[in-house]
Amino acid sequence: MSTQLEKARNKQLTEEMEIVARSEKVNVKELMRNIAKGYAVIPASDLHKSLKPIGIGKGLRIKINANIGTSVAKADVAYELEKLRVSIEAGADTVMDLSTGGDIDLVRREIIKHSTIPVGTVPIYQAVCDRNEIVGLTANDFLNGIRKHIEDGVDFITIHSGVTKAAIPLVRKRTMGAVSRGGAFLIKWMEHNQRENPLYDNFDKILKMAYKHDVTLSLGDGLRPGCIKDATDKAQLHELRVLGELADAAYKENVQVMIEGPGHIPINEIKKNIDLQKKICKGRPFYVLGPIVTDVAPGYDHITSAIGGALAAFYGADYLCYVTPKEHLGLPEIDDVREGVIAAKIAAHAADVALGRGREWDDSMADARANLDWEQMMKLAINPSKARQMRKECSPKDVNACSMCDRFCSVKLMKEMREKRCE
Ligand code: SF4
Repeated sequence: MSTQLEKARNKQLTEEMEIVARSEKVNVKELMRNIAKGYAVIPASDLHKSLKPIGIGKGLRIKINANIGTSVAKADVAYELEKLRVSIEAGADTVMDLSTGGDIDLVRREIIKHSTIPVGTVPIYQAVCDRNEIVGLTANDFLNGIRKHIEDGVDFITIHSGVTKAAIPLVRKRTMGAVSRGGAFLIKWMEHNQRENPLYDNFDKILKMAYKHDVTLSLGDGLRPGCIKDATDKAQLHELRVLGELADAAYKENVQVMIEGPGHIPINEIKKNIDLQKKICKGRPFYVLGPIVTDVAPGYDHITSAIGGALAAFYGADYLCYVTPKEHLGLPEIDDVREGVIAAKIAAHAADVALGRGREWDDSMADARANLDWEQMMKLAINPSKARQMRKECSPKDVNACSMCDRFCSVKLMKEMREKRCE
């Protein structure tokens, strides 16, 4: 077994590279060169049989992730599979199973079995759920959780190896400390045991496990800011520098790697964050959660994050983790998942258009609108069923227009004038 990265470095084209290049309409050799340099990844475990590979990184369409999974309050396998179905239908490129409640092994295995898109997990949750404690866990408990997920066929895993002891005094200065679950677990473990992060100390062992099945490491931002007051602070940048070193170590061992990023970031700091990540982590794919650009909109954080995500992607982020309207409030339900995926997809597409990709979609919509071709508008809508429902509810007097301007429809006027000119 060797990885996509190793094969790319040996100038060996793979079936996965061919599939990605075809679906993205990019030159396969260029894609191979970007993978060889670590600028792009194809998260595709050799154990995930139902997978259709996708690529993330330089020269490729912006990708979006949907987080699904159980919690202690709600743990229902069938419900999580429905979230997976809705995520794929709404346009998610990947899903992450963040389950922490019920039979998390069963949930993960079922999600992998039914998913045609890459599946990611955060194996530190496994260790904590299996033993139902944090500070008493051994390094082996953490590593066994990772092994279990890899052997089940996950395509990428978030590993919080960058949260080191040296960052703890910096975290204490923050308003919100560490808001990432993985980051908070590890800080508690390190403080109690007075030892270094076992995921940092044993990073070489994690690399060997990841290499075996070509599982991509998503180096987690355990210290992402949880409010804009903590944004771009010393703790966050300390972790980013550690992630840069770990990414180099992974590259040496031919393990594909992405870097995770913030978090709550005001708009004026987004470009700086992307530039810093790309510099420190040598152009490796950047996976951001949001960024959420203001703290004051619970119930609407799919919007705060879509604003940040569009800007982040335009400035160079490669991969957006969705945020649902339930963020900061509760576990997302099916409709929250759908709204979150669509908001992230709008952000990703808006950035793609600005970067010169996928504009044909907008141009087709413009043609359909100019011709008042409602059926075509519905088909092209990012969420056709919602658009159809709204159209159905509006009942204009003039059926060619909509109830906004009705018989004063400016588009209709323009269409009639255009048609007259052509007579
Ligand atoms: S009625 Fe007004 S809003 Fe509706 S399609 Fe015509 S111009 Fe657009």
